[in-house]
Amino acid sequence: MVRAIVGANWGDEGKGKITDMLAKESDIIIRFQGGSNAGHTIINNYGKFALHLLPSGVFYGHTTSVIGNGVALNIPYLFKEIQSLVDRGVPKPRILVSDRAQILMPYHILFDTYEEERLAGKSFGSTKSGIAPFYSDKYAKIGFQVSELFDEDTLKEKIGRVCEIKNVMLEHLYHKPLLNPDELFQTLLEYRDMVAPYVCDVSKYLYEAMKEGKNILLEGQLGSLKDPDHGIYPMVTSSSTLAAYGAIGAGIPPYEIKNITTVVKAYSSAVGAGAFVSEIFGDEADELRRRGGDGGEFGATTGRPRRMGWFDAVATRYGCRIQGATEVALTVLDVLGYLDELPICIGYEIDGEVTKDFPTTVKLEKAKPVYTKLPGWKCDIRGIKKYEDLPENCRRYVEFIEKEIGVPIKMVSNGPGRDDIIIR
Ligand code: GDP
Repeated sequence: MVRAIVGANWGDEGKGKITDMLAKESDIIIRFQGGSNAGHTIINNYGKFALHLLPSGVFYGHTTSVIGNGVALNIPYLFKEIQSLVDRGVPKPRILVSDRAQILMPYHILFDTYEEERLAGKSFGSTKSGIAPFYSDKYAKIGFQVSELFDEDTLKEKIGRVCEIKNVMLEHLYHKPLLNPDELFQTLLEYRDMVAPYVCDVSKYLYEAMKEGKNILLEGQLGSLKDPDHGIYPMVTSSSTLAAYGAIGAGIPPYEIKNITTVVKAYSSAVGAGAFVSEIFGDEADELRRRGGDGGEFGATTGRPRRMGWFDAVATRYGCRIQGATEVALTVLDVLGYLDELPICIGYEIDGEVTKDFPTTVKLEKAKPVYTKLPGWKCDIRGIKKYEDLPENCRRYVEFIEKEIGVPIKMVSNGPGRDDIIIR
């Protein structure tokens, strides 16, 4: 059985926690898109971890962690991350890396940084992990597949060719030091030696695993609204964040994905630029940010304060629909226990008309939130294990959201730990 765990919002919904939890019953966990640009925070019996490139199932002895072909593979980063787990007492995870994954090159990070510098105030708020330059090169067909590391002559020739293009940009657009093809070749040979023991024909491996009836998780990064096609373009990421892409980024048939567990956050948060209709500011935002997540809403990769907002039913209904959500995990509900009233954005007013449909970006920029308010529950719900034991107003909030988004909320997360979960 293949299950995807993906985000309905702007990312940071708590997918890492849900993946870590569901990995207990799984054999294989796969990252299928993105790179080290976003972080997943996981709290379990080994401590608190911020993972960026490894799937969130690495903490169990029985799981295999896979880097799929759709990922932007930063090789030294991957090994640094594995080492940081081992250093803290986590058993060395079983890792497989797709021979068709492409390599995030040192110059992708440079280009990302230079471009943000060049755009100055008009930047996209990139994490400068090289993701946009990486995917641009992949589709411009000047990327490097892991498989290419193993043919030195072809590799050398291609590096020469790619450096020619890159150096024109470095010299004339960015006015920065040029790339040295020989140095780059040496770096790639080092990468080859690091990754060699883990390289695998992943789609074949998964084909066999599915035949044997193994439980497989596809772990998404970011959320629906950061998808390059269906999100708030251009303030999006550079690879698809949708469950559908799990089929491509892992190399499995789309019909094998039976369950699409879509993670929805009980309030809104976002990083980077872009329209954010239910955003709140000032003291109200500071308080939610301080209480949010586990120890505050600050980016796991950059430490940047996240933008905060009330629950947005318009964006979340769309986010669930575009994921094809079969069930929802509602997270960080415990954080909201301090509020007297909980505003929920149930419509967007655009040019004097109210809509419940999530618009394209140009219209989204003009949208103003239409709120309804539900009464708060004014207590701490952590530790509660049964849905019926939640305060009535808390259940009302959950059921209101469920009705708005039109997908069953099967899990309610009431704390950052593995066991802080209510199964409905
Ligand atoms: P991801 O990228 O979707 O995996 O999300 P992040 O890990 O970036 O952000 C989620 C944050 O919320 C992390 O700090 C988690 O530890 C925390 N978290 C997850 N679920 C809950 C929850 O139910 N309650 C609380 N208080 N924190 C949670």
